[in-house]
Amino acid sequence: MNAFLEVFETSALEQAKQIDQKRAGGKAGRLAGMVIGLKDNICFKDHKVSASSKILEGFTSLYSATAVERLLAEDAIIIGRLNCDEFAMGSSNENSAYGPVKNPLNKDLVPGGSSGGSAAAVASGMCTAALGSDTGGSIRQPASFTGTFGSKPTYGRISRYGLIAYASSFDQIGPFTNSLEDNALLIEIMAGKDDMDSTSSSKSVDDYSSLASTEKKTIAVIEDCLNHIGIAVDVKAKMNETIQALKDAGHTIQMVSFPYLDYMVPTYYVLTTAEASSNLSRFDGVHYGHRSSEAQGVEQTYKKSRSEGFGPEVQRRIMAGTFVLSQGYYDAYYTKAQRVRAVLKNKTDELLKSADFILMPTTPSSAFPIGNLSDPIQMYLQDIFTVHANLTGNPAISLPIGTDSKGLPFGVQIMAKNFEEKAMFNFSQSILELQANSIHTLSKNN
Ligand code: GLN
Repeated sequence: MNAFLEVFETSALEQAKQIDQKRAGGKAGRLAGMVIGLKDNICFKDHKVSASSKILEGFTSLYSATAVERLLAEDAIIIGRLNCDEFAMGSSNENSAYGPVKNPLNKDLVPGGSSGGSAAAVASGMCTAALGSDTGGSIRQPASFTGTFGSKPTYGRISRYGLIAYASSFDQIGPFTNSLEDNALLIEIMAGKDDMDSTSSSKSVDDYSSLASTEKKTIAVIEDCLNHIGIAVDVKAKMNETIQALKDAGHTIQMVSFPYLDYMVPTYYVLTTAEASSNLSRFDGVHYGHRSSEAQGVEQTYKKSRSEGFGPEVQRRIMAGTFVLSQGYYDAYYTKAQRVRAVLKNKTDELLKSADFILMPTTPSSAFPIGNLSDPIQMYLQDIFTVHANLTGNPAISLPIGTDSKGLPFGVQIMAKNFEEKAMFNFSQSILELQANSIHTLSKNN
């Protein structure tokens, strides 16, 4: 599947030995023995990390991400680093410098992106859980394409210290798992204030992992999403079925209009490319990363090292981001996009005043074939339902909800109020129970 870029064999076995000893002594942590893979943009001290880019080939982390420290403190075992789109830019894992990842359910298909290796490794059971990062859907979209659980907490809930930055006001770390409970537990353990990330929140962390289904909630369904031209028939049918099941169970459904859907992806790409052009300026062949052997002098070193080290999609985004920040265009693009972001946030807050959650599909369809989307704009439109939560900062989760006529999975997405991860996990549990009931009823009727 090309999911693992490296297996940390020596350190994983060493950790396992130590954890066995702790278990024998009766004082092992809450994740004792849980085997976890890291997306290749999350730092683990004394181990390589490359963001799946040639520019960071051979680079070794000097420290561990705070999220990783917290997993280690609970005795998780870090098994290796997982392939992803270069610098987390992509929706299919085809932008990795180390080749595409294959979907374990069908090797001709993409696993989604940018955390494709994390999704594939968890879906195929090569690790119990994996960390990904989500800037515009990079956890939820591959979760949808592989039938796994993937969540992005509220912006600021988990420290970004030690996550290689793509777009800092959007990025969040989150888990991929095969169960809702594991997902909630991992967020619970990683969340919380960190002095090394000033955007991390000091709000207290709830006990997310003791799941209890909830009754009588109000759920907003964005009609514009369900009626979107790109949505597959099976996804739409499953959404309608879920909505009906929620109504039957006593929940209130509000069909709402959110006439900004077409602005989401452009706003996202103006702002994230701007932030990326700034964040990635440090990879210049001097401070960090690959240095061209042909370069002579400072300017050539920058130009040649960056041209050789960055792949085409990363170059495209650095150029787009530099353009939207340039003098004369800044107000027309960057300032304007910031204003649109504020409008989206206000409108979302308004929706979440009268509703507890927003329900929508995670992806317009199930996984597509490798090599199928060569037009970058078509690829960007894959993110239509996921960028919302990153533009506004809200927590969101993708739950495997069904399969299409080809037998391929897709997810349903729940967005919650800021810092209401507990409510989001509990409501997810309710949806899973409804789904289990409907399968039970179906088989009884047959
Ligand atoms: N597919 C989106 C992008 O290419 C999201 C990536 C992400 O969340 N890291 O920007």
